[in-house]
Amino acid sequence: MNPGDTERLQITIQGAVQGVGFRPFVYRLATEAGLPGWVRNGAQGVLIEVEGHRQELQRFLNDLETGKPPLAIIQSLEFAYLDRQGYEHFEILHSDNLGAKSAFILPDIATCEDCVREVCDPADRRFRYPFTNCTNCGPRFSIIRALPYDRPNTSMRHFRLCSDCGREYADPLDRRFHAQPNACPRCGPRLTLWDATGRTLARDEEALQGAVQAIREGHTVAVKGLGGFHLLVDAQNAQAVRRLRHRKPRPHKPFALMYPTLKAIRADCFVDEAEARWLRSPECPIVLLLRRPEAQITTWVAPDNPTLGVMLPYTPLHHLLMAALDTPVVATSGNRTDEPITTDEHQALGRLRGFADLFLVHDRPIVRHVDDSVLRIIRGQPLLLRRARGFAPLPLILRRPVPPILALGAHLKNCVALAFDRQAFISQHIGDLSTFEAHEAFRQAVADLQQLYEVAPRYVAHDLHPDYLSTQYAKSLNLPAVAVQHHHAHLAACLAENEVEGPALGITWDGTGYGPDGTIWGGEFLLGDAGGFRRVAHLRPFRLPGGDQAVREPRRSALGILYALFGSQSMNRDDLAPVQSCSAEERRVFARMLSQGLNAPVTTSAGRLFDAVAALTGLCQHASFEAQAAMALEFAVDETEATAYHFDLRPPVEGDLVRDAEYVVDWEPVIYALLADRRAGVPPGVIAARFHNGLAEVAIAVARAVGERRVALSGGVFQNRCLLTRIASRLEAEGFRPYVHQRVPPNDGGIALGQVAVAAARFES
Ligand code: ZN
Ligand code: ZN
Ligand code: FE
Repeated sequence: MNPGDTERLQITIQGAVQGVGFRPFVYRLATEAGLPGWVRNGAQGVLIEVEGHRQELQRFLNDLETGKPPLAIIQSLEFAYLDRQGYEHFEILHSDNLGAKSAFILPDIATCEDCVREVCDPADRRFRYPFTNCTNCGPRFSIIRALPYDRPNTSMRHFRLCSDCGREYADPLDRRFHAQPNACPRCGPRLTLWDATGRTLARDEEALQGAVQAIREGHTVAVKGLGGFHLLVDAQNAQAVRRLRHRKPRPHKPFALMYPTLKAIRADCFVDEAEARWLRSPECPIVLLLRRPEAQITTWVAPDNPTLGVMLPYTPLHHLLMAALDTPVVATSGNRTDEPITTDEHQALGRLRGFADLFLVHDRPIVRHVDDSVLRIIRGQPLLLRRARGFAPLPLILRRPVPPILALGAHLKNCVALAFDRQAFISQHIGDLSTFEAHEAFRQAVADLQQLYEVAPRYVAHDLHPDYLSTQYAKSLNLPAVAVQHHHAHLAACLAENEVEGPALGITWDGTGYGPDGTIWGGEFLLGDAGGFRRVAHLRPFRLPGGDQAVREPRRSALGILYALFGSQSMNRDDLAPVQSCSAEERRVFARMLSQGLNAPVTTSAGRLFDAVAALTGLCQHASFEAQAAMALEFAVDETEATAYHFDLRPPVEGDLVRDAEYVVDWEPVIYALLADRRAGVPPGVIAARFHNGLAEVAIAVARAVGERRVALSGGVFQNRCLLTRIASRLEAEGFRPYVHQRVPPNDGGIALGQVAVAAARFES
């Protein structure tokens, strides 16, 4: 996007915004600002599109939220910056349901200001009641069993409204008119505090106080919240946080934090306007923020990490807990590694055994698990890293109508999607399908979407990998199926959410995706659209000793690359950190794997190249969680360093392990330069910067060689803020148009949307 270019801002709003003078307000706002476009009511809520320069659009968005009519309540607001359509004036359009009308399920909404006020008011009958909610806030997606959205179809059906609550529920003038989860201390859900064996220690206010006291004393309390359990522990207590890490076990992966107030967040983190907006939004996601050096929380919360994942309380229970504690707490998902978050208190006793000292539970069942969403602001716009609470199950609006398609998503960070007409309903984050529990959650989510929307899919889309459970599940459905290559899905997802029909150059970089040639792809340059693609370039392939095990041992990626350069001599390079970290026996084993190609699959993975470089830079040989090494490399970057390592862009040659594309992006000169820098004592921060800069330059080189102006950036590697910023800025400076993810994650959480787009294109033709 050049500074002179105009863009289109697309906004979707849910809430009490119809019939309260909202459309005339939008009309006035747009025409006063001279922004052409339209506003329209639809089944999806209020849709707005306006065109202008980025700054004008940002101001419009801000004025929309701050200046809205007093009666207009926004329960959810999603937006995306798209290419301009060329509107000439602003108009109010007739309502349009974008195809068949579908019943609509709202996501769970953070407690509104009115409800917070009541909970804090000693004169109010809901004073200190942890399950207070109203029509404008509270649980939705996590309590709905079936449509229509009426109380008997929710997990509130066993709670009989008392006379006061019933009166509110029936009064059209009341804020709780038809508020399905309406409740009060007399008739609604109650808190209970259990010890680790499930023995009741206290109820109601006493239970809350007991939990607060325990957290103050350094204990871990499992708290049943909105969409599942959290483990809460005092974030300023190093010993307590360390103990939780030891118990889980989770040595390094950052914990999320909940803060009592925005002011308290500002004391520990740098917060800009966009970040503050999201922290206080009805979606209330975890926002990744840069931590201040003087932050009071223990480093055990996020070891070696300059950022913190931070959120504010989003239910009255959290508000009450946080107000009483008045200190930030770790609020990490109550689960065992790689399993979905626990939702049931009786299951929690078993599954969280050994993690939690106490359980603060309640008797409102959670119908489906919904994790906290995670978001990061990059280049002034939101990048969702996990789409769940506050967003799921809101649909993405598609450019064209599609037949009913079920997309089963990726194997890791799984989300499924059900699309029909012009809507793609994307499930909440499910997780890694390698555990039994996650696979159960996957099947449930698939059944759930079909049941809720009463749509039976006509087609199914799944990953190309023949062995994935999702692939086998797809076969069991007996529907016309399309197998979608993983990186093609990444490209198609990025194009779909940016409303671009292609063709475009997809720079799709991640850890792993099954390639049609049976090798592991992950550093791909694909030219195409949802209908198909050509692999125009890929990273130079190398062997991964031990295959999947390399994810946990970045040094293995480094050994694979060293072997490609130095052959059997590489294992004698005691001057290199990854070699140094191997015992004599390990060296023998790795050398044999690499020389004979046994249990050493060929990969073009960009994620593994990051691992190799992090290992060679001496930053990380063993990783306890995915992308730890790549994050270490990103965090090390010295921002003042402007020079770049040079990647060779060349045709495939004899000796390349894969010759499948017109170009190979060869890291050989990068590795030689890196090793020379190491010998010369160049600091890791400079090496990391030169590597990132080099990737940006070679991305430009490929884009030039291909000659396609539109470039889509997708794949988990683009969660890297430094890399995304550099590549997008450099592309713009060179006259290309980069597209980045906005509403679905660049990681595998976005795969289901891409599968929908590919399947739609396939079955259309
Ligand atoms: Zn409310
Ligand atoms: Zn009541
Ligand atoms: Fe991926």
